[in-house]
Amino acid sequence: MPEQLAPGLHVVATPIGNLGDLSPRAAGTLARADLILVEDTRVTARLLAHVGCKVPMRRYDDHATERDREAVIALLGDKAVALVSDAGTPLVSDPGYKLVRAARAAGHEVHTVPGPCAAIAALTLAGLPTDRFLFLGFLPARAKAREDAIREVGTVQATLVLYESGPRLAATLAALAQQLGDRESAVVREITKLHEECVTGSLSDLAGRYRDSPPKGEIVITVGPPAEAPAASDADLDEALGEALGRLSPSRAAAKVAEQLGLPRKRVYARALELSK
Ligand code: SAM
Repeated sequence: MPEQLAPGLHVVATPIGNLGDLSPRAAGTLARADLILVEDTRVTARLLAHVGCKVPMRRYDDHATERDREAVIALLGDKAVALVSDAGTPLVSDPGYKLVRAARAAGHEVHTVPGPCAAIAALTLAGLPTDRFLFLGFLPARAKAREDAIREVGTVQATLVLYESGPRLAATLAALAQQLGDRESAVVREITKLHEECVTGSLSDLAGRYRDSPPKGEIVITVGPPAEAPAASDADLDEALGEALGRLSPSRAAAKVAEQLGLPRKRVYARALELSK
């Protein structure tokens, strides 16, 4: 590793529980930074003590203003500034994207030191499909806004990943069960810590399990994708074509019905011609 860190902004992921997960590159970057932007100086001081270094820190949290960003940008020409959050990957449900954008817009280098992230770690434990997933961060706290947010993603064919706290877990699971149906899901807690656990079950099972006993610690909820709709039958096809052929040409009716039922257009067109004879 070179002695000097390149000037610019270095986004550094830190452990989500187990300090052993701090990568050598992350440790080296923090130790050689001129300044570290932190959410909470006490939290990052513990990490720096683990690395065995002392580096000046400056607070950069959810309340950071445009002026705070300008002050950081003014340093980036000749200083290496690291950005960390209390735990995990900065910018993921944590502050930082405005700073990254502003740094790049001002012509500075932005580097990343990737590492732990609770959302990704939860996916590795849940055993749900990972080819497509949608990260929702924290749902809104108020019931109506939470319902709207869940409804918005109800038909998305992807595993959903959410951050949640113990006291709100049961209500969130109940709202998810009510609006998404009883999908397979997992509550993943205290990842990489002493009491790490992954409890799997249907959304309603899990809502019941936690209703009267809110768990302690940090939590990620994962929810499997909706079941595939059953393929349309010949009877469904004839019914839809019968309706469409009453007002459209065979080719237009076939196009519309093929899209509506998710069937191959060629097959639907052939049937449309038969029915319109
Ligand atoms: N930037 C972080 C990351 O990369 O995961 C997330 C920050 S967000 C403010 C904090 C939330 O992440 C917690 O409320 C919890 O939902 C989740 N989380 C963080 N650490 C966790 C852990 N060790 N186990 C389970 N969930 C965790």
